Amino acid sequence: MAPRLRQRRRKKHPSVTPMVVTPPTVVTPIPVTLTKPDPSIDALGFFSLDNNVPGLSKLILQKLNMKSYEEYKMVVDGGTPVSGFGFRSPQEMFQRLEDTFRFCAHCRALPSGLSDSKVLRHCKRCRNVYYCDPECQRSDWPVHRKVCQELGHVAVDRLMEWLLVTGDFVLPSGPWPWPAGVQDWDTWFSMRRLQLEATLDAMLGSHAMTILWASVGRPRPDPDALRGSLKRLLTDILSRPLTLGLGLRALGINTGKPGGSTVHVVGASHVETFLTGSEDYNELGYMFPGHLGLRVIMVGVDVTTSFLQSTVTSTPEPDTVHLSGHRGLYHDFWEEQVETGQMAHPDMVVAFHPGFHASPTLMEAWLPTLLLLRDYKIPTLLTVYSYQELTASLQILVDLDTHVIAYGANPFSSLKPEQVYSNPNKQPVYCSAYYIMFHGSPAS
Ligand SMILES: [Zn+2]
Ligand SMILES: [Zn+2]
Repeated sequence: MAPRLRQRRRKKHPSVTPMVVTPPTVVTPIPVTLTKPDPSIDALGFFSLDNNVPGLSKLILQKLNMKSYEEYKMVVDGGTPVSGFGFRSPQEMFQRLEDTFRFCAHCRALPSGLSDSKVLRHCKRCRNVYYCDPECQRSDWPVHRKVCQELGHVAVDRLMEWLLVTGDFVLPSGPWPWPAGVQDWDTWFSMRRLQLEATLDAMLGSHAMTILWASVGRPRPDPDALRGSLKRLLTDILSRPLTLGLGLRALGINTGKPGGSTVHVVGASHVETFLTGSEDYNELGYMFPGHLGLRVIMVGVDVTTSFLQSTVTSTPEPDTVHLSGHRGLYHDFWEEQVETGQMAHPDMVVAFHPGFHASPTLMEAWLPTLLLLRDYKIPTLLTVYSYQELTASLQILVDLDTHVIAYGANPFSSLKPEQVYSNPNKQPVYCSAYYIMFHGSPAS
């Protein structure tokens, strides 16, 4: 399993119509966090875990019966079944996964660094963070109390994600009765309400759910807590397709164009392509009834092999969404595939969490793509994890002389909290919490 090493009251989202803004000339500089808060998976991020908790990356590999990050990545990439990990039982697997979270949230001690008389015990409220003794727990409480409840959700969600791997997670399906009225999660949930009640109940009563909670070594939460978790997972899966829809709507892309419309997702990685199938994007199609075909092409160096093999590149039929992948850098893809006419020119380009604000190295990697999108005047949508990242990214886009046409809180943000793995008391973040759209340069 790919451990996607990855509620407070949510602020009410503004209406979906993005605020049209004049490009900000001065954005107040805010100190930017140096690591991507995404607690997943690229090698850099993986080893950066050690900065907070020395030895943590090694501990994770060891618990998962793997020898190196390369091996870990290979397993994620190929989607090798769990049996390949060498676990004797589901209990052992869940135990091992939980063990990867076992270090003292206060003094950072790992189990190996404790004297024999000590064991790490979890916080009884959230069951998410561990302490080596009551002293550490007491000292940590003023910080931990701010995130304890949210981390309780994280601890349930990471177990429930197992249903995605087993294939027991059911997405809603069928046309939207009133697409124009769906502007955010509230309206989406009320539109899908009847169907969701039935599917959530079915998932709660399923064999997979029983096995899961019989295997994880903690009591099964009450049905409402499990329903809440399933809903958060739903928003996490559907956040990406519906954010594409938000962009198509806001940028005024004509989905009735003969031959269909094309979206390129740039910088795509495991996160967008592992365990992702075309059916995950059906909701995007239902957002635009009568569309003449939607093509979503994931481009990135870390697009998974299983995704490349399971998707098709043919022209989509009207009312269908086609997913496909291309492994490589976007500017190379552009030269080799788009300019030569082998791949459709994009009507919109999307990047989920490009993270170019976070380090000069990432900025260097993104620069050719950003300039290409600006100079070819491709309507572009980016997402970021936090307001702080929004501000930093806007400043960079303004400096690059792009025409920022809208930004704001994403009404289709994931509602599943993401723990900063090696620093659990940091405020959890939400995938695609904010968006930015730009189109060409201000003068053009
Ligand atoms: Zn401690
Ligand atoms: Zn707690």
